[in-house]
Amino acid sequence: MKINSVTGEIGRNDLGVVTTHEHVLLDLTAFYEHKEVEGVIDASTQKVEMWNLGILSRDCYALKDNLLLTDEETQLKEIEYFKKAGGNTVVDASLPGIGRDPKALKRIAKKTGLNIVMGTGFYVGATHPEALSTMTDEEVAQIMVNELTVGVDGTDIKAGYIGEIGISEIFDDKERKVLRASAIAQRKTGVAINVHINPWTTNGIEAMEILLNSGVKPEKICISHIDVENNYDYVLTLLKRGVYVEFDNFGKEYYIKREVRNSGYGLFVRDTERVTFLKRLIDEGYLNQILLSCDVCLKNLLHTYGGWGYDHLLKNVVPMMEDKGITKEQIETLLIKNPADWLTGKGE
Ligand SMILES: [Zn+2]
Repeated sequence: MKINSVTGEIGRNDLGVVTTHEHVLLDLTAFYEHKEVEGVIDASTQKVEMWNLGILSRDCYALKDNLLLTDEETQLKEIEYFKKAGGNTVVDASLPGIGRDPKALKRIAKKTGLNIVMGTGFYVGATHPEALSTMTDEEVAQIMVNELTVGVDGTDIKAGYIGEIGISEIFDDKERKVLRASAIAQRKTGVAINVHINPWTTNGIEAMEILLNSGVKPEKICISHIDVENNYDYVLTLLKRGVYVEFDNFGKEYYIKREVRNSGYGLFVRDTERVTFLKRLIDEGYLNQILLSCDVCLKNLLHTYGGWGYDHLLKNVVPMMEDKGITKEQIETLLIKNPADWLTGKGE
C-alpha cells in the first residue's frame, strides 16, 4: 500500500534508506521538573552550552533548554545531515503535547527533499488532552483515522502511521485506551504502529498483547526503545510473537548519576553493546524483525551542540556493525527492506 508523507503519497520504492524513529521537531518540556543544578544559576533558563554538556551527560533532563528541538532553522540544518549521509525517509515520532507541527514538517521536507512521515495518536498519559479521559475507544480511533485520511490540525497534511503511542513507567488506563483505539484505527487504515515504552520497564509485552488481541497483525507493530538496557529475555518475548523491535538509542551512552536515577530513568548501555546485541539477534534468526534509528530527542545530541546528530546511524553505527561482522546485505535489510515492510506491507 501507499502511505502519506507530509508532502504527499509515497510507495515502497520511494522510501529508500529509512530512520524509523526521529523527532525533526520536539518539545519535551512537559517532562521538565525544576531542580538545582550545580554551577547553574537557573536550570529552567540556562541555555545548552559547551560548559554544561558534561552536566547533561549525567542527567539529560537537568536543563529545560535541552528538551527543546524547536528552532526550525537549526532543525532543518540538522536533519539535512541524515540526507547527506545517504538517508531518504524520516519517520517522525512527535505527537500533540510534544511539539508535532505539520506545517513546519512540510516546509522542512520540501527544503531538504526528504520524505517525512508524520505520526498520529497520543504520547504518554502526562501529555494527553483532558478530553481524552471521557472519550470512548471508537472516538479516540476516529481522531486518528481523520488525521490519516483527511489532515492534521485543520491542514490537508496527513499522518502516515500511528505513533509514537506512549506507555509510561506505570502503564495507566488512558494509555490502554489509546492502544485499543490505535488498533481500531490500524485495522481501518492498514498503517503501521510504533509504541514508545518506558525503556527501563518491560511494558512492551502488555502493549504488544493489547494490540495483538485487538486484531493488529504483528508485522504492523513496532515496540520502541529496547536498546537502553538490552534485556535479552524481554526482547526475545517480543520477537517470538512476530512484532518488530526497535534499536533507537544509538548515540545515547549516558551513565545517569545516582541522585536522579529512579525506576523510570536509569543507565544507558553504550553503542558497542547495542551492536553486539543486534548481532546476537541477527545470528538467532531475527534479522527481519528489527528496525533502527537514533531517536534524537535532546539538544545535546545535535551536531550544533556537540552531539552525533541524525546521521549517527549511517555515519558511525553502520561501520561499527560491519566491524562486528554484520554483512552489507543484512545492513540493507535493516535500513531499507524492514522499514518498507513495516510501513507499506510485505512485498508491496
Ligand atoms: Zn519514545
